[in-house]
Amino acid sequence: MDQEKIGKFISSCRKETGLTQAALAEKLGITDRAVSKWETGKSLPDASIMIELCNLLGITVNELLTGEHITMDDYKDKAEANLLDMRMKVEQRDRTLLFTEKVMIGVIIPVYTAVVISGAYICKSGNIPLGIFLIALAFTMVIPFVIIGLKIEHEAGYYECPNCGERYQPTMKAIIWAPHMGTSRKMTCPHCGQKGYHKKVVSKNKE
Ligand SMILES: [Zn+2]
Repeated sequence: MDQEKIGKFISSCRKETGLTQAALAEKLGITDRAVSKWETGKSLPDASIMIELCNLLGITVNELLTGEHITMDDYKDKAEANLLDMRMKVEQRDRTLLFTEKVMIGVIIPVYTAVVISGAYICKSGNIPLGIFLIALAFTMVIPFVIIGLKIEHEAGYYECPNCGERYQPTMKAIIWAPHMGTSRKMTCPHCGQKGYHKKVVSKNKE
């Protein structure tokens, strides 16, 4: 806290209200020496009279402590810019995750299919233990990817209900048991309770 800046601010606000140091001091029930000390930056107003002082000067405690006027517009703009920035970072991360999932599926499914088919051929050609081993290996290999995929589906983005338009994040359980078609999953909307294929969307808000 910049005591000198606060002092100058108190002084200018007091002058704007047309009060002398003595008049302000009288209203607060303190000595004009105390007011003089604030305005020269030698001391800060006690917490006990800060609200009353602010009311008399027509400022907020936040402004008093900052030592300047904060316009509501500025405050809102700053808060909104920060929020938007944070949301864009999350959406960017979600897009990357969903893209990773697509690449993963695109690589895993052909590899998985190839291993299972060769396993089946090897079985047919007589080497049953090796064939079964290959098929079992393919199943085992695919499990971690399914888990990672489900995690991404759960954490990245939202699902949109075609009935009411609600965008929501389903539970992990709902995702595991929901049949899916592409990136849509058949689930029950937590908002309207309708069952249907819910589309995957990155943003919580509709563009
Ligand atoms: Zn709905």
